[in-house]
Amino acid sequence: MLKRLSLITLALLIALPGWATELEDEERALERQQEENAPAKPKPPHIKAPNEEVTETGKAPPDSTTSEPRKALFLLGETVEPGTFATLHWTPDQSFASIATPVPILVAHGSKPGPQLCLTAAVHGDELNGIEMVRRLMYELEPEGLAGTVVGVPIVNLDGFRNGSRYLSDRRDLNRYFPGNKNGSAASRVAYSLFHNIIQHCDYLVDLHTGSQKRVNLPQLRADLENPDVVAFAKHFGGITVLHSPGVSGMLRDAAVNDGIIAVTMEAGGPNRLEEKAVSYGVQAIETLLENLDMRKASHFWGAPQPVFYESKWVRAAQGGILLSEVKLNDKVKKGQILGTVTDPISNTGSAIIAPYNGRVLGLAVNQVVHAGFATFRIGEEKSTEEVEAQAEEKAKQSSEKGDDPQSQTEPDNEDKERPSEPAPEDQRPASATPESADKTPRKQASASTPTLTEKEEQTSE
Ligand SMILES: [Zn+2]
Repeated sequence: MLKRLSLITLALLIALPGWATELEDEERALERQQEENAPAKPKPPHIKAPNEEVTETGKAPPDSTTSEPRKALFLLGETVEPGTFATLHWTPDQSFASIATPVPILVAHGSKPGPQLCLTAAVHGDELNGIEMVRRLMYELEPEGLAGTVVGVPIVNLDGFRNGSRYLSDRRDLNRYFPGNKNGSAASRVAYSLFHNIIQHCDYLVDLHTGSQKRVNLPQLRADLENPDVVAFAKHFGGITVLHSPGVSGMLRDAAVNDGIIAVTMEAGGPNRLEEKAVSYGVQAIETLLENLDMRKASHFWGAPQPVFYESKWVRAAQGGILLSEVKLNDKVKKGQILGTVTDPISNTGSAIIAPYNGRVLGLAVNQVVHAGFATFRIGEEKSTEEVEAQAEEKAKQSSEKGDDPQSQTEPDNEDKERPSEPAPEDQRPASATPESADKTPRKQASASTPTLTEKEEQTSE
């Protein structure tokens, strides 16, 4: 069974071309804005109980906890019997029906009651590590012994995947259009279809991504740590790194949480490549999740079960030129330490990129040519679990006192806003050329060019 998907996947992966660039012109930006401004649907009053089954309408029937026989799953117009594995097909209403290619959906419907966990990968078509994670996880599940249901979507953005592109075929970023609009743009319709046909059936969602734009991420969860349910969920993944990230409007994770589905993003590695270590790490973390949700016994789980929480910021290049890193992912760094250098290849003038505080390297740009203002190193500052939990509880309390939707209180950090040409902040002046520029080594003008952190974070992933 393992071979079924792997051969096809591997054959396709070998042929993938290189980078794609996003072109979101003003018209599209406006269009998306208008869709976002449309009246939001009210948030459901509570999150579905773990043992609820899904019916054809997507609504949960009355409780089916203990003695009742396990029911069949109805999804995408098909019936999946308890204790069985099925491959279903989702056809986003994207192009004309006669040439539409259905997207395969893998379903393991356990013989025992339990939660419905959804795993989505390749919402960005060039992010391959998640595809392999879903394959490994789905084909190791044994539905007879499983409590609950696991729905895996190995390649959400099939068009992008075929083209080796992050984007949809119309060059839109699908992960900015959720929950979608059935009468909206092409991307918005695809988002709507996925969200309403699959995502709304989930109790929990893990959306799998990698870094983007020649950046790589340490395997990590992105989670809104101001939401106590999300904090509790993040703790089920074992000793993984968890970054606080409230999410940005239009992201699948954000839309799911707003709809009462507990969701996180898992980031691992970089795009356009398959990284065995990152994949294994992610699989192990999700196996730990299955164990902790009491869905099945994991084949192996982590000795150190606590996640490590971080607040993080990107440090940007102060000038354009050739970026060379001096640190690796997961390195611990000290305030003032040189993280890397950027050197103008013509004038041989350079500047150092300096760690602004003590922390850990959670994401970085691979060595490449960069422009001034390019986000180069993501440095995380550790927070204690107690501190994170207390803050989430406090936030939830404040929201309930005000009677507000906690999501509307969240100011997104726009970490993943994709505007590659975003200008460098004014206070990041390029290092000036000096008369003695014939030196072999670039001068490091750390004091003049220490990068600052900006409130608006650049798109780097998700
Ligand atoms: Zn992504």
